[in-house]
Amino acid sequence: MSAIWEEVPRDENLIKHLQEIAKDTALLHGVLMRTKESPNSPEVVSYAPFTLFPTRVPRTVFNQALAVQTHFNRLVDQVSQDPAFLEETLASTIKVDDFTARLFSIYREVRRESQLQKVVLGLNRSDYMLDQSPDGRTSLKQIEINTIAASFGGLASRTPDVHRHILKVANQLEERNQILDNNPAEGLVRGLAKAWELYGSERAVVMFLVEEVQRNIYDHRYVENELWKKNIPVIRRQFEDVCRTGSLDQSRKLFVDGREIAVVYFRNGYMPQNYTSEQSWDARLMMERSLAVKCPDISTHLAGTKKVQQELARPGVLERFFPDEPETVAQIRATFAGLYTLDMGEEGDKTVAMALANPDRYVLKPQREGGGNNIYGQEICEVLEKLKDSRERSAYILMDKIQPIPVQNYLLRPGDPIRLKSCLSELGVFGAYVRKGKDMLFNECVGHLLRTKSSEYADGGVAAGVAVLDNPLLF
Ligand code: ADP
Ligand code: MG
Repeated sequence: MSAIWEEVPRDENLIKHLQEIAKDTALLHGVLMRTKESPNSPEVVSYAPFTLFPTRVPRTVFNQALAVQTHFNRLVDQVSQDPAFLEETLASTIKVDDFTARLFSIYREVRRESQLQKVVLGLNRSDYMLDQSPDGRTSLKQIEINTIAASFGGLASRTPDVHRHILKVANQLEERNQILDNNPAEGLVRGLAKAWELYGSERAVVMFLVEEVQRNIYDHRYVENELWKKNIPVIRRQFEDVCRTGSLDQSRKLFVDGREIAVVYFRNGYMPQNYTSEQSWDARLMMERSLAVKCPDISTHLAGTKKVQQELARPGVLERFFPDEPETVAQIRATFAGLYTLDMGEEGDKTVAMALANPDRYVLKPQREGGGNNIYGQEICEVLEKLKDSRERSAYILMDKIQPIPVQNYLLRPGDPIRLKSCLSELGVFGAYVRKGKDMLFNECVGHLLRTKSSEYADGGVAAGVAVLDNPLLF
């Protein structure tokens, strides 16, 4: 039997002492983020927000999440190769959601051309919460899968040592020894390196397509520097740079600033506001049309939409992608929460009625990424009352609200006083795969990420200033 604590330490003096040590340790280990005030300056940096203590996670569900990841990699990849499914699934969404519609028009445009690049690189993160049913059972439920710009694979590889040190100082040695090693960055880099090799030109570079505001740059840098260690050159560029200096040559090789691009790694481009001009859209199209390996390509980006997630949860749909693998289907389906269409028609009407009757049981989700976009509680009624008779409602999907048990922890965030909070955690699992033509050459689960937020917030990730980095303590 393990002697892992049921509750985190609460002694006030100890906490005061530990928080200082914790912050310095985070800085020493490179758990860093640039500041809100100077997001593009390396002159003043701070620690990335994190929990003072790791959070208990049942070993069985943790292992379940790791075990299903290579199946999710294949699922996303299969969806991305099924034009009929994507067309049908997103048909109603793209009539009312401009952003998805623009992505979709790029998808259609590149499909008209012969696909030059047969190599596909997927780096994704599947996120889960642990649902607590009234009879006390804990079950792993997927929140979503991020197929573009999934972050924190770098910083997550540095947080285990921070928690180990805090626990040692706190004399919680049993717990200290249970902190898992974790190195998603290394696995993501293996995927990137494989794609770069397959592209087959030593001079060509990996281009990180990045945002203008780069608070989370250190997370990228871990991945970047690991590539350099393998002698793979990296450049960081923004849409702006691609607009100004990007071009395709006759064989559709992509050049930016005179450098040939082997892999475009999108750490940007997942929100409407990332496309600040028509030229940004032109740049996205140019990159998609190019010979460069895209991570993700436009079809894999679309495979990560919430509408696709909802369709995949329909009876029989997983079987379409895994016709001879009932066990794979069962493993994936076990992680699905209830997901409901809001498309026009009888089924969508039923969803509306269900949500209006019990708004607290659901989350209303638009086709957006990046946190802070979902709708909860009474606001669901306000939105649906307004949209229920218009096809605008199909810009959303409805999802069962996952109900985890809150646990107490201390959140450390620059500028915030430390307080004991009731918290909810979200477990992410990183997947990496490389396919060439029909051959899956690489398909792995490469690490995990635990994020924890105060339960007063329904939504929002680390970037949104709500969640903080954490580590699971398995029991
Ligand atoms: P985004 O793409 O914006 O990150 P998510 O689907 O991941 O959208 O939702 C953002 C946050 O909202 C999650 O990190 C989680 O905290 C909360 N959330 C999302 N779906 C649910 C759900 N079904 N039940 C409970 N909380 C949810
Ligand atoms: Mg999310």
